Amino acid sequence: MSASFFEEVLMTLDNANRHLNLPQGIFQRLRLPRRSLIVSVPVQMDNGGVEFFTGYRVQYDFARGPAKGGIRYHPRVTLDEITALAALMTWKCAVVDIPFGGAKGGVACDTTIMSRDEIKRLTRRYTYEIGILIGPEIDIPAPDMYTDEQVMAWMMDTYSMMKGYSVPGVVTGKPICLGGSLGRNRATSSGLVTTVIEALKVLNMSIDNLTVSVLGFGKVGFHAAKILYDLGAKVIGVADSKGAIYNPQGLNIDEVAKHKSQFDSVQGYKEAENLTVDELLSIESDVLIPAALEAQIHKGNVDKIKTKIVAEGANNPVTIEADEVLNSKGVFMLPGVLANAGGVVVSYFEWVQDLQRFFWNEQEIDDRLNTIMRRAFKEVLAISQEKKIDMRTAATVLGVKRVAEAVTIRGLYP
Ligand code: GLU
Repeated sequence: MSASFFEEVLMTLDNANRHLNLPQGIFQRLRLPRRSLIVSVPVQMDNGGVEFFTGYRVQYDFARGPAKGGIRYHPRVTLDEITALAALMTWKCAVVDIPFGGAKGGVACDTTIMSRDEIKRLTRRYTYEIGILIGPEIDIPAPDMYTDEQVMAWMMDTYSMMKGYSVPGVVTGKPICLGGSLGRNRATSSGLVTTVIEALKVLNMSIDNLTVSVLGFGKVGFHAAKILYDLGAKVIGVADSKGAIYNPQGLNIDEVAKHKSQFDSVQGYKEAENLTVDELLSIESDVLIPAALEAQIHKGNVDKIKTKIVAEGANNPVTIEADEVLNSKGVFMLPGVLANAGGVVVSYFEWVQDLQRFFWNEQEIDDRLNTIMRRAFKEVLAISQEKKIDMRTAATVLGVKRVAEAVTIRGLYP
């Protein structure tokens, strides 16, 4: 039987600990989530009936600051998955050195078959149920798969109604008019591109005519493709949940986006060939960006991959087994805890701006994001080179070391 997602995350933690040798008590603390809340969420459906959905919020660790992490709505959401993602958020916030612990939440539901009103009622009741755990000083949710600015607005409103006054800092990824931050929408992708550019420097490669394939054409995949396309790269393939498209001359990303919004899929775009996602994986490219679900690249399809750089836009889209294969082939890996951290970095900026009631311009946000991403890349690369370990283990070493330091110096209570 293959390992569960959380077991995979623990294996990476174990690998990292071979280079950290943490005291047993500290190591054990980091293998267990601090708090896990499971809620049942009753929702009045449009047909008049009531349906119950299961929701979760896991706060993995908050030694370094309030817990932070997104909320996903997806039929496959389980406690194991949310715990794994909460652990990754903990290392991620520490890798980029922002003062947050890690959390994640989610509801097992299929928003593609729900009306907007049903999603609104689900969001409000879920927020109420996890309301005992969230707040600007405790735990700050954000968007993740199938949640967006509107969901964050409903969460902010529900929490504020419970308090009796407006609390913008309770969630990030909000609309700008409610205290959202400029640049948050494309922050994950813009941070990801910064790490790709740093990797290109290491490999002596240039962005001109760089060939790129992107798996997933949601917020992260689309913006990553768009930023790279605008910088002069050739995005030769993109895939979504329905299939893939390929054009060796490069796709016009703006046109592909228009096609997707019209037909709900990238497939059928006239200036490209339709492929299956697995066929796209077999096509050679310089950079591959998996930006959809976890475990998209696994031991069953990893042998097909011919690329120089893999940048994880999603959280752990490459399984540990596949990661080993890619490393042994000399592929430059940019693990999600580093590569996709730009989202939570700008979430941090949003939270700071909300607490100060003072807002920054887009240039300030971009500059600060770039500085943080470049610094984190260099720190992870230095560990990888010094200890001769792969980038995923190196990033985990850096993140876990920072969390362990905070846990150690705070000491055990009582
Ligand atoms: N869901 C995003 C992630 O996985 C962002 C989390 C946040 O901004 O809190 O990193």
